[in-house]
Amino acid sequence: MHELALAESVLQMVDEAAQANGFRRVRRIVLEIGQLAAVDPAAMRFCFDAVVRETVADGAVLEIEEIPGRGWCVHCAAVVPMDDFVAACPQCGRFGVQSRNGRELRLKTLEVE
Ligand SMILES: [Zn+2]
Repeated sequence: MHELALAESVLQMVDEAAQANGFRRVRRIVLEIGQLAAVDPAAMRFCFDAVVRETVADGAVLEIEEIPGRGWCVHCAAVVPMDDFVAACPQCGRFGVQSRNGRELRLKTLEVE
């Protein structure tokens, strides 16, 4: 379950922001997670709630926005939607689609008091 490691890295980003900006509480966090990162939002929330206990983000609402995966076909150069690493190109039907995005994990919004 890599959600635990991800939740910890999110907390680290929040902690760094808290030190840089001097806020004491986080009310809402919006995360952008690429579809290809294979993150289970329910597991992510569960792990997040566990790791933020007694930190600045204790009780914060975690919102997860999924970014659709996109790939680029090495054969016909089409840019195609991608929800799996092993998929044939929908344009030419050949295998060789390389992921362009969809694996990111980004802190999009941080609402603090
Ligand atoms: Zn193609």
